[in-house]
Formats: sequence, structure tokens, C-alpha cells
Amino acid sequence: MSTIASTNPFTGETVKTFDAHTPAQVEARLAKADQAFREWRKRSFAERAALVRKAAGVLDQRKEELSRLMTLEMGKLHQAGVGEVEKCALACRYYADHAEEHLKDRSIETDAKRSLVRHQPLGPVLAVMPWNFPFWQVFRFAAPALMAGNVGLLKHASNVPQTALAIEEIFTQAGLPEGCFQTLLIESKRVAQVIGDPRVKAGTLTGSEGAGRSLAQAAGEHLKKVVLELGGSDPFVLLPSADLEKAIDTAVKARVQNAGQSCIAAKRFIVHERVADAFEKEFVRKMAALKVGDPADDSTELGPVASKQVLDDVDEQVQRSLKQGAKALTGGHRLSRRGFFYAPTVLALTPGDVAAWREEIFGPVATLVRARDLDHAIALANDTPFGLGSAAFTRDAQEQERLCNELDAGQVFINGMVKSDPRLPFGGVKSSGYGRELSSEGIREFTNAKTIWIG
Ligand code: NAP
Repeated sequence: MSTIASTNPFTGETVKTFDAHTPAQVEARLAKADQAFREWRKRSFAERAALVRKAAGVLDQRKEELSRLMTLEMGKLHQAGVGEVEKCALACRYYADHAEEHLKDRSIETDAKRSLVRHQPLGPVLAVMPWNFPFWQVFRFAAPALMAGNVGLLKHASNVPQTALAIEEIFTQAGLPEGCFQTLLIESKRVAQVIGDPRVKAGTLTGSEGAGRSLAQAAGEHLKKVVLELGGSDPFVLLPSADLEKAIDTAVKARVQNAGQSCIAAKRFIVHERVADAFEKEFVRKMAALKVGDPADDSTELGPVASKQVLDDVDEQVQRSLKQGAKALTGGHRLSRRGFFYAPTVLALTPGDVAAWREEIFGPVATLVRARDLDHAIALANDTPFGLGSAAFTRDAQEQERLCNELDAGQVFINGMVKSDPRLPFGGVKSSGYGRELSSEGIREFTNAKTIWIG
């Protein structure tokens, strides 16, 4: 049976399977991408912007239908899906409006009559993408990359093939020239071959550490640039001066958004011992009270996880953590109902070699630890192989400054949850990957910063 299939996480039923593209079909798409790039790169920013803005219009028109597709393929809550599609439209408009400014020539005075840096597109870029934000992850690559003059080849996760095909269709409907954005229905084992093709100039992967290593290795063989957006185990630090009520509400939201399957979900809650009892009581109460159910129903607060594999992985990590000394304050098990449901879970533990502390758990499972003081909290926050996002709650300006400087992560959010924004760079350090998406840093990743010297 094909591994490329849509399986409804609410029911567990496989609703549609797809044949992978044959080598000849992949070859035809690579040839089209190469051809399309030669023409697309010559278009002005205004010409590209007009078409990327049209893609935003298509997204707006189709947002209800596209959200239903995400609910079907990966269990996203309906309203969250609508919000995700709107965010993609926002990104298209933002880069249509601002790409030129991010990429404008930078003059530098030298002995030349004129010297400057000019950012030029690289060519076809392979994007290997995950299922958790199946539209947003793709558009946050595609909108800036297309505006910079590159063309895109998408290898999406195998459980969201209909979404993958819908994205190609959106760009076609918007009127982008044929070949500017194409989906490759291929298994992950064929990614190395595609990145090795001389027509493909660079790659980007959002996904797990293992997948990131594979792409980096294959791209390294051919000396091709990659951007890697990998896993995270973000800390959420709570200090005594914080607005406790706001912090608790944010903590619940930050952990269970997208059924806990977000790279930048707060996963390790590090709470100062002076406020730990109050936080724990209310946080556990709110987690346990979440309304679990049908993701298509707007009153549902926690839907299923995306697949049986995710459910099995989360449960294995939780059971291992319990054996290693963690204590479940609520949850700690699958829900006995149809579909891929896990109970909202809070694990209290002492940091060390416990799975829930060392690994990323991609489901609605929060880890709670206590810190003696600010130094201890920062040390605990940094005690992880990952370095994607981080959040801290405190009203003390000196504490805020120390947290901004000392948290070892690609992003620090003070008094708010970590989120991506088309205007701000996004990415991580350590095992969370390298390179950046979005903003000036992101749009320049897939460009040749060409030095020009005219005497
Ligand atoms: P995944 O299994 O790594 O899959 C991500 C993508 O990589 C899929 O398209 C997958 O294709 C492909 N892939 C898997 N193994 C590969 C390999 N050896 N070579 C080339 N491609 C490979 O990750 P996931 O389970 O979909 O997503 C969850 C992970 O993504 C979490 O760790 C999460 O934190 C991370 N993530 C990071 C960010 C970020 O911005 N930093 C954002 C979202 C998610 P198949 O489906 O065909 O295997």
C-alpha cells in the first residue's frame, strides 16, 4: 500500500491514498522548475508581487475549504485552520509589499566608483515540510522565496498529500507561470536524489532532527545550502513578579495549541518555587478541564494528534518518563475512544535523565519543574539539546534583560507565548537547526549576496 495517504485522525480511517510520482514525473517537474526559473528571475518585484498577492486572494476565498482539509488530514481544530490560512495570506501580502525593500542593493564606499551588494535568486529550492502546520510552514518558505525570484519544489509530509496538491493548485489559480511552484509526491527516501540534482540549488527542511541530518548530509555531498527548522523543547520560565493569571492562561494555550504538536509549543515549565504551588494547582486544573473532541466542532479545545505513530510515540515517552521518576499530576495515558486521542497531561519531575526533560514530546504533555531563583531557572531553561524558542514571565526589567541575553534560543518572548510572525526572523540554535526563515534574514537565505565593484 502507498505510504502517501490521508488518514482521518478523528476516526482512524484512511480516506485516500496516492501513488508516488514516478522517476519520469519527477524529472518532468525538475525540468519545468529549471525552465520557469530562467523567466521568473527576470520579472520585476512589482510583477511577482501582483501574482503573489493574487495567491493571497485565493487563500482568502478558499479558507473554509482548506481548513476542512487540514482537519481531515491532520486533525487541526477548524478555527485554528481558518486562522492558519489567513496567516498564509498575510505572509503573501507582506512579502509582496516588502520583498524589494528587504533585498534592495546596499552601497558600500570603497576605492571603486561604485560598490554594492546585490541579492539575486539561487534557482529551484527544494522544501521538505511537516504536517503540523501544513499550510503555514509551506507559505512561510514560499512567499519570501518566490518574491526573491526563486522557484519552489515541495516535498510535503506523506500524511498530507491533499494539502500538498492544494498548495500547488493555489499558485496555479493565482496565475504564477507553470513550474514556479510544484509539488513532488515522493517518499522521504527519494529526497537525497532530488537535492543532488544539479538543477536544484538549495534546500530547506522543517521537521525532526533525524530528517534534518539526512537532508544536511545529502546536501553536503553536493555543497548545497540548506536551512533547517527542527525540533524544540521550549522552556516557559515563570518568576514571582509575573501576572500569574495571565501566565497560567498563556501556559495552557502555549502547550496545547495544535494538540501539542508545535515546534515552538512551551514544553518545559520552569516555575520559581515561591509561585510554584499556586501555578501548579491552577495549571493542572485548566489542563484537565480542556474539552477534548471532534476537531470540526468549534467548541472543542483539544483535538486528536495527527497519526497513530504520533500517538504511540507520545505514550511511549510518557510511560518511559513515569518509570524514570516523573509523576503524572493529570493524564498520562491515551484516551479510550476512537481516533488518535491523548489525555492532556502534566508531568512533575526532577530534571535529569528523564525522557520528558531531555526529548521533545510532540503532544499535549507539559513538564513541570521548580527553580530556586533566576540563575537556577536560566540554567534549567538551557539544559536541553534544543534551542528554538523560549518564553519568560516577569515584570522585573533587570530580570527581563538577563533572560533576553542568557536564554540560549533563537527567540525569546517576554510576557507572551512564542509565535511566528511574517515580519520577524524565525529559527533556532543547537539541535533546533540553523538558518532563518522570514524577515530580511529569511528572505536572504536563498539569495546570492553578490559583491559588485565598478571602477
Ligand atoms: P519528520 O518526520 O521529520 O517529517 C518532516 C518532513 O521530512 C516530512 O516531509 C518527511 O517526509 C520528511 N522526512 C522524514 N525523514 C526524512 C529523511 N530521512 N530524509 C528526508 N526527508 C525526510 O517530522 P514530522 O513528524 O512531520 O514533524 C515533527 C517535527 O518537526 C518535530 O520535531 C517538530 O518540532 C518539527 N518542527 C519544527 C519546526 C520549526 O520551525 N523549527 C516547525 C514545525 C515542526 P515523510 O512524511 O514522507 O516521512
